[in-house]
Amino acid sequence: MKPCTAKCGRSAILKRPKTGDTLCKECFFQAFENEIHFTITRSNMFTPGSTVAIAASGGKDSTVLAYVLKKLNTKYNYKLNLVLLSIDEGITGYRDDSLETVKQNRDDYEMPLKILSYKDLYGWTMDEIVAAVGKKNNCTFCGVFRRQALDRGAIQLAVNYLATGHNADDIAETVLMNILRGDLARLKRCTSIITDSGDGIPRVKPLKYTYEKEIVMYAYFQKLVYFSTECIFAPNAYRGHARVLLKDLEKMDPAVIMNIIQSGESLSVAETASLPKLTKCERCGYGSSQNICKACVLLEGLNRGLPRLGIGKSSRAKKMLEANVGVKVDGDTVNSANTCDTRQCCSKNGSCQNK
Ligand code: SF4
Repeated sequence: MKPCTAKCGRSAILKRPKTGDTLCKECFFQAFENEIHFTITRSNMFTPGSTVAIAASGGKDSTVLAYVLKKLNTKYNYKLNLVLLSIDEGITGYRDDSLETVKQNRDDYEMPLKILSYKDLYGWTMDEIVAAVGKKNNCTFCGVFRRQALDRGAIQLAVNYLATGHNADDIAETVLMNILRGDLARLKRCTSIITDSGDGIPRVKPLKYTYEKEIVMYAYFQKLVYFSTECIFAPNAYRGHARVLLKDLEKMDPAVIMNIIQSGESLSVAETASLPKLTKCERCGYGSSQNICKACVLLEGLNRGLPRLGIGKSSRAKKMLEANVGVKVDGDTVNSANTCDTRQCCSKNGSCQNK
């Protein structure tokens, strides 16, 4: 057996995907947690005394995030009040099961848990939405509604921050996708470690520089309970192709993930580029880059039996909304894919387009 390269005297049992170091379990835990601590402190992520809602899906990322934040909060005395916030999309056989894992996290980590459902917020479950719109565009509804549902939950809980489980792989994929799509607005903000939701509660990404493979390794060696089944409505989406490309590149050089993130961080968008400004939706009052937010447009379509309203870049959708609802929608409808950055859903194989 090789000795641990941290020179602790123990035998190594793993090779870190991120650095190639061969480490014992204890030194891996320490390196993994130290890097997250460094990410948090270097970005001045949290003000002491704040309340942080952790967007919890029961998956590996949010489970590890909750576990590590609790540990670091105690070890370094961040003075944070941590709570779990989950969204129940109403997906039978998927979210109902994963929420049981979140409840287990609540008990294990002794954090309060709030669950908000699409049914209560919007009057529709994802099962009902899929029955109305089919499986092609279902993730557009799910991602848009989830993003707003988390904002609503954070406001209801009166938290100071919303922490999401985005990891380094997610962010590198998003940089690639936004370049391929020419989506400057998202390219500009997708590498930000702290983003503005438009509702006054910053979203933060403590796992921004943490490799997905190491998250799985950490959860495995810490014996954490997490849910790993893929959503039954997961599509074969664009993000899946970006993920395959990234995984292929990672096999040749694991540093590619960090390189892409650092490239994204270094890019600056030309002053002349037109970028949407965050405002409040005239209907629901939540953060939006349009006069009427995407959630309200989609909901109006569902309620009026016009479920395709607001999907894709369609001037027809705008005209229909203006004719049916009497509201003026500025600009085009937002490209529906990649709208969710909440990491609340499955995404085991990266097929969900709303990560
Ligand atoms: Fe929602 Fe993700 Fe399932 Fe799509 S794959 S329906 S975004 S949970």
